Amino acid sequence: MPNAQNVLLRYNMSHSSKSGQTASGTAGRLTRINGKTLIRHHTNSIWEYCLRDQTGNVHGRVPEDIIITTLTRLEAGYINTYSNVKNHPGWQTAYMRAPRPVNLVNAAGNLTQSQNVWTYPCHYCGIVLPEQLIEVDHRQPKSRPGPAILKSLHTLHNQYAGSGAHGRKATQLDNIMQNGNIQPITPKGWSWGNWQSGLATRVNALATANDPLAHINAQAKQDRYRITEYGETFLSVCVMYYGQSRTEKICVNNLINLVPACGICNGASGKGASAHAHQ
Ligand SMILES: [Zn+2]
Repeated sequence: MPNAQNVLLRYNMSHSSKSGQTASGTAGRLTRINGKTLIRHHTNSIWEYCLRDQTGNVHGRVPEDIIITTLTRLEAGYINTYSNVKNHPGWQTAYMRAPRPVNLVNAAGNLTQSQNVWTYPCHYCGIVLPEQLIEVDHRQPKSRPGPAILKSLHTLHNQYAGSGAHGRKATQLDNIMQNGNIQPITPKGWSWGNWQSGLATRVNALATANDPLAHINAQAKQDRYRITEYGETFLSVCVMYYGQSRTEKICVNNLINLVPACGICNGASGKGASAHAHQ
């Protein structure tokens, strides 16, 4: 776990990256800010990290203790092998893992008496599946970490990235980590008849390379969070401490970016359009 001492140790290494860093929903990966450099200094004996521009002005001053607290929370939510999030007690509770009756047809063609097995509802369509059949979906894709980074920043501190909406999950991240006082994150869900037509819609979306509706909705999601100068300082500390690729991986493979999904919803390119999950 990061602490002030080992972050400072990294800061004092001559070769550690001190370049200013930013992220956006459209850029995809972390981006270096030309002309801004990460510095640590103190004002009235309070140590801060901030970015200094070429004229010597500083931007995004964040007290060191807030940097360390949020860095620690970010790392606490990181799941190294993302499918292992199914073993996380808080995540299990949030996504409504429970024993539920499941029917089977046996070799004689008879419907067996239903048995209770551990299940999850798909976060998108709500279908209940045994946990072995539930997949773990990255809500923001691995291939474009920008939106996941912005979402992480917003969750960690509301001054790192702003938005007009307040997600339920953001307010209960600490509860999920500690598996206490968790409000279930319910699926968007479908009525049964609509589920079938929705399923067909999404299968079609899979077969359509350029789904215009999916694109519009993806754009709306990308615009949901905007990084602030405080967020840029925090990201610059992350890249100094972890490096670029690992910073991106920590945000993408994070409790706040992983949801249970059925195979259809997990693979569907149009899932943001046709089964947009609330959170
Ligand atoms: Zn589904």
